[in-house]
Amino acid sequence: MSDLYTQLVNNPIGKLVASNVGLPQPVKLDRWSPYASVVDGQALFGAAPGGRLLTAIAKVLAMVEVSTSTSLRTDLREACAAADLDAAVFNPEAPGEQRFKALVYDASGIKSSEQLAELRAFFGPSIRRVQPSGRVLVVGTPPENAGSPKEAAAQRALEGFVRSLGKELRYGATAQLVYVAPGAEDDITSTLRFLLAPKSAYVSGQVLRVTPAPDTPENPGALDWDLPLAGKVALVTGASRGIGAAIATVLARDGAHVVGLDVPALGDDLRDLMDELDGSAFELDITDVDAGEQLVTHLTAAHGGVDVVVHNAGITRDKTLGRMSADQWDLVIGINLTAEERLNDALLEAGTLRKGGRIVCVSSMNGIAGAAGQTNYATSKAGVIGMVEAMAPVVAKQGHTINAVAPGFIETAMTAAMPIGPREAGRRMNSVSQGGLPVDVAEAIAFFAKPVSGGLNGNVLRVCGQSLLGA
Ligand code: NAP
Repeated sequence: MSDLYTQLVNNPIGKLVASNVGLPQPVKLDRWSPYASVVDGQALFGAAPGGRLLTAIAKVLAMVEVSTSTSLRTDLREACAAADLDAAVFNPEAPGEQRFKALVYDASGIKSSEQLAELRAFFGPSIRRVQPSGRVLVVGTPPENAGSPKEAAAQRALEGFVRSLGKELRYGATAQLVYVAPGAEDDITSTLRFLLAPKSAYVSGQVLRVTPAPDTPENPGALDWDLPLAGKVALVTGASRGIGAAIATVLARDGAHVVGLDVPALGDDLRDLMDELDGSAFELDITDVDAGEQLVTHLTAAHGGVDVVVHNAGITRDKTLGRMSADQWDLVIGINLTAEERLNDALLEAGTLRKGGRIVCVSSMNGIAGAAGQTNYATSKAGVIGMVEAMAPVVAKQGHTINAVAPGFIETAMTAAMPIGPREAGRRMNSVSQGGLPVDVAEAIAFFAKPVSGGLNGNVLRVCGQSLLGA
């Protein structure tokens, strides 16, 4: 979908006018390409004294082969040596033009409000050195795992810091916070790789929680990170178009055999896309009373089971509540929430979801913030978040994970049809001043779908460019 404003402000005259008048200046965000490295530039690695995640972070930086600088502090030097990371010395006082594509900071050593000054000491001199589409990652301890109320408060304070930093950064740069539970130090690889890479282009100001995975790989560096889903079967509902088509395409790129599901009326489009992706099409209305049974029978007979389930199919039927019919209410709740619950029950009860299964649900920012005219839709999408949070401990017992992605304003046929006022507000009212692309949602889903993402369970990740709504 075209964003004419972004095209205009990216030509020399438009840029000058926008900057003089103080209008938003969205830039073209870096996105994945087959030739791009995880970090296309240099990284600066820092830590508050006493951090417990230094070596784990250094290992990820070494694995993605990013040229890294750090200070002369002994603990940082030792962590780099332990991870075989050859780090140059960064002196913030030295004059120079050194710029960074990523700032990565271990804040787990911060145990009191006084020690929060460490954040300013590190980021103060470095934040203006972040390049366009750069990444700021702060890694800490979940407040619920802190050893004292003061440590819990200081770790919780990181959220405010990171969310504000996300709003201060410019030119498509983003900031995120990753809370790593004790024992999950070796399970951070997929999270850090995703958040450092262009794949997370439209994710900012977010908090992810990593807990110990049941199946931590011994040597993540030896995994095939280009084809992480090789040999896996991935079901995507609502796959014939829009965000669902992008999800199917990205999961196929990552090596999965995609089973695309959509209503029979869209069967032709669905088959065309699945032919392109070497996947297979399955026509089904997910609200059919026996939809779960049909799905279990099909997946078992045709594929011997399924490894990844993406609940993407969803609809809107907008009306203010006083004007909303019972049908409009029931249809939206039925497709967006009840059908997902029923399919999950069927797949789990029959054991069709194979060990280490990944369920990823598409919620919505409006399920978090609410939206006038969408009481039915926001109710259904908030319910999806509730389902993910409640099911996470249940599916963990069977070795699976369940997470949700909550898109903000995404450039699709649906948002192109919006009236210009709300459409432009949706596009600009976020930290990167533009709408996201379907592929941005798809990349977040592919991240949760990876076998190596077993440490992520019960998360809700917004893909909204840090929208001001519901923040
Ligand atoms: P879309 O283009 O309308 O695609 C949704 C697909 O799901 C359609 O092919 C649709 O078919 C299918 N579907 C609907 N009911 C179904 C049923 N009962 N059984 C099987 N398939 C069914 O929507 P989209 O914009 O790509 O959105 C995809 C998901 O992202 C939805 O869950 C949506 O709520 C969510 N989302 C989108 C945005 C955005 O900005 N676009 C933002 C936040 C969240 P039909 O033709 O029958 O409807």
